[in-house]
Amino acid sequence: MELQLESILLPGVEAIRPLIIAGPCSAETEEQVLASARQLSAQGVKIFRAGIWKPRTKPGGFEGVGLEGLEWLKRVKAETGMYTATEVATKQHVEAALAAGVDILWIGARTTVNPFAVQEIADALVGVDIPVLIKNPVNPDLDLWIGAIERIYGAGIRRIGAIHRGFSSYDKKIYRNLPLWNIPIELHRRMPNLPIVCDPSHIGGKRELIAPLCQQAMDMSFDGLMIESHCTPDKAWSDASQQVTPDVLKYILNMLVIRETNQTTENLVHLRGQIDEIDMSLLELLAKRMRISREIGVYKKEHDMPILQSPRYSEILERRASAATSMELNVEFVQQIMKEIHEESVRLQMNIMK
Ligand code: PEP
Ligand code: MN
Repeated sequence: MELQLESILLPGVEAIRPLIIAGPCSAETEEQVLASARQLSAQGVKIFRAGIWKPRTKPGGFEGVGLEGLEWLKRVKAETGMYTATEVATKQHVEAALAAGVDILWIGARTTVNPFAVQEIADALVGVDIPVLIKNPVNPDLDLWIGAIERIYGAGIRRIGAIHRGFSSYDKKIYRNLPLWNIPIELHRRMPNLPIVCDPSHIGGKRELIAPLCQQAMDMSFDGLMIESHCTPDKAWSDASQQVTPDVLKYILNMLVIRETNQTTENLVHLRGQIDEIDMSLLELLAKRMRISREIGVYKKEHDMPILQSPRYSEILERRASAATSMELNVEFVQQIMKEIHEESVRLQMNIMK
């Protein structure tokens, strides 16, 4: 479906990549909201996010401050001039957020999965002109994501964006939510004029992963970043481990390398230079691995041990396969490489035995 979209950029928010939306996971107290907003505004952030209604996995957790928080967002706007953004999951949320003058609405991952809920939001938006950002559903179902976008579009909303926040999985080794980049990339292929914002906070689940995920998103030509930032992240009432202070946020943004989306030959030269460097590092590591293998060979010879110890070989293959999975590498590809490397090690050790 070809969408006739309008820009999600608001007056005063520059059209250069990346569009930044930052703020705490949740609005907790008036002081926390205003302190976070003032610090973010001082760092140049123009769009402030804060969850007023929080969908929590289990009951009994902090479920958001509700209507009271909308008053704090009004103060943020009045004091800092920042635009405000919040998550809506019901008709009542939409009405309350619009009445409070919230500038951007987003639909959360737990809502996008439910067509009834998305339709209820869409119905509440008929006749309204506001940017709406739609997070991917928690499960990796591109059609469900597109369906939610089409429902909002069907309500007449033309300023639409998507937010990639990763996909839930039982295996939470590295990421809280697996990036599965091919899904937003396919979304882009199907809806080329739909801006896509990456949310590295919910993908990573930990603050150390925010910077590398932001860089990856930029390298994949995402249009913007939504990052959770809190004045005192460790004290946050929700998602504490994935929030950064506004200072750290600024540092992360400053470190980003933004490459042109229209790759020229010059960009390619730069990228090929990086590939050359990586290949040299791979070779150096291989040379080091082989030196260590030779040392092991000498030890085996001195202690009259057999070269091939199959439990060790199986262990290597298994461990590398599971590491490969968590790094989103193709397991068969990695096992093939490990097999070749192991064979070469055995050959080297046989030479020593001669
Ligand atoms: C959020 O942005 O704080 C949030 C609840 O995100 P998600 O819908 O991606 O889980
Ligand atoms: Mn959050």
